[in-house]
Amino acid sequence: MGSLTKIARRGLQSGLRAFSSASSEEKPDSGVCDIFKLSDEQKEIQELARKFTREEIIPQAAEYDRTMQYPWPVVKKAWSLGLTNTHIPAHCGCLIAEELAYGCSGMKTAIEGSGLGQTPVVIAGNEEQQKKFLGRLVEEPLVAAYAVTEPGAGSDVNGVKTKAVKKGDEYIINGQKMWITGAGVANWFFVLTRTNSDPKCPASKAFSGFIVESDTPGVIIGRKEINMGQRCSDTRGITFEDVRVPKENMLLREGDGFKIAMGAFDKTRPPVAAGAVGVAQRALDEATRYSLERKTFGVPIVNHQAVAFMLADMAMNIETARLAWWVAAWQTDNGIRNSYFSSIAKAFAGDMANKCVTDAVQIFGGAGFNCEYPVEKLMRDAKIYQIYEGTSQIQRLVISRQHVEAFKQKGMS
Ligand SMILES: Cc1cc2nc3c(=O)[nH]c(=O)nc-3n(C[C@H](O)[C@H](O)[C@H](O)COP(=O)(O)OP(=O)(O)OC[C@H]3O[C@@H](n4cnc5c(N)ncnc54)[C@H](O)[C@@H]3O)c2cc1C
Repeated sequence: MGSLTKIARRGLQSGLRAFSSASSEEKPDSGVCDIFKLSDEQKEIQELARKFTREEIIPQAAEYDRTMQYPWPVVKKAWSLGLTNTHIPAHCGCLIAEELAYGCSGMKTAIEGSGLGQTPVVIAGNEEQQKKFLGRLVEEPLVAAYAVTEPGAGSDVNGVKTKAVKKGDEYIINGQKMWITGAGVANWFFVLTRTNSDPKCPASKAFSGFIVESDTPGVIIGRKEINMGQRCSDTRGITFEDVRVPKENMLLREGDGFKIAMGAFDKTRPPVAAGAVGVAQRALDEATRYSLERKTFGVPIVNHQAVAFMLADMAMNIETARLAWWVAAWQTDNGIRNSYFSSIAKAFAGDMANKCVTDAVQIFGGAGFNCEYPVEKLMRDAKIYQIYEGTSQIQRLVISRQHVEAFKQKGMS
């Protein structure tokens, strides 16, 4: 017998042994987190977030959804447990986001929206700005907000019209922002403004980012918007009328605002993707439980292959999306530019979460359409994952541009 054949046979035999022992003794794989072993720190944080979700979020989620009240007690408790602090590495932040969103993604957005507001200061703030504005968020359960979108400019950030004009040692801000998460409860805002009035000025030079205290005269907070889902999260417009901001509140230099506003997304899209995974995982768990209980034609509906395959598709998509946010978060933690994987994770997780919740409603049948059952809220809550922090279409723009650029750089064109 040739040596290659011997090796092949040995391989086959050990493969067969592995196969038979796997089928008789080993537990089935229970997911990405079990395969890529979490560190003790990660496990501890995940366990803390999971316990918090079970005890504090899930029991109150339906009531906050109904009343649309901002979940202050939950936000404060999350803060006191260290589940909101800015020093959490990206992978841990994402683990927390997934756990919280499993319980209620509205509360997760209320808690994590502040992270979006903080990130420009984390990536571009000088020591003084970080100490002053991030420091107080560590000392007290306060909220920051990210104010970039306007009534006339969402995906097209270059269309931002809010102006900041320098006058002495101050900038005077005028304009309007829209759909700002946490606007009604924030202590301060990151505000993107246009500082160069020349319409031909490129985006990379035309905008500046400021930290604006929410109690500054001229900051007018709009009404709470009534949204389809994530209803306890606070979303509002803001009007700036001759708002005077000291020049020390500018992040980096005049003209750097666009880069800062967009750079923040590399860090914040992975936890958004993780949140979408949390919603999808909840949909899968609820649908699985129901499919084991509900009987039609004399058997639990899980025994119908059409239903079981829907569960399989959900599981496939969830594990793949989880892998995607892990890669994006790992890159952030290791100082590797991650726009490409952040957008892949955000777009894939947002789209797949919407498919999962729709299928979960389908598995529940008529009960799925009713608000007494859990999946109706999941379907309403999931939609926003395809819209905020860049729509699914905008993520594809980022991915395709990065892909084509890399293709050319490899000399393959
Ligand atoms: C609940 C909620 C919370 C939010 N929180 C915040 C926040 O905290 N801070 C903040 O600044 N913003 C926030 N936003 C705003 C959000 O980021 C924007 O709504 C989003 O970026 C889309 O912008 P838009 O609504 O103006 O839609 P548009 O930009 O008008 O897009 C409309 C449609 O056209 C598509 N489209 C646009 N341009 C292109 C293109 N080039 N190619 C293909 N398709 C395209 C979009 O994908 C979308 O489907 C929030 C929004 C909501 C609803």
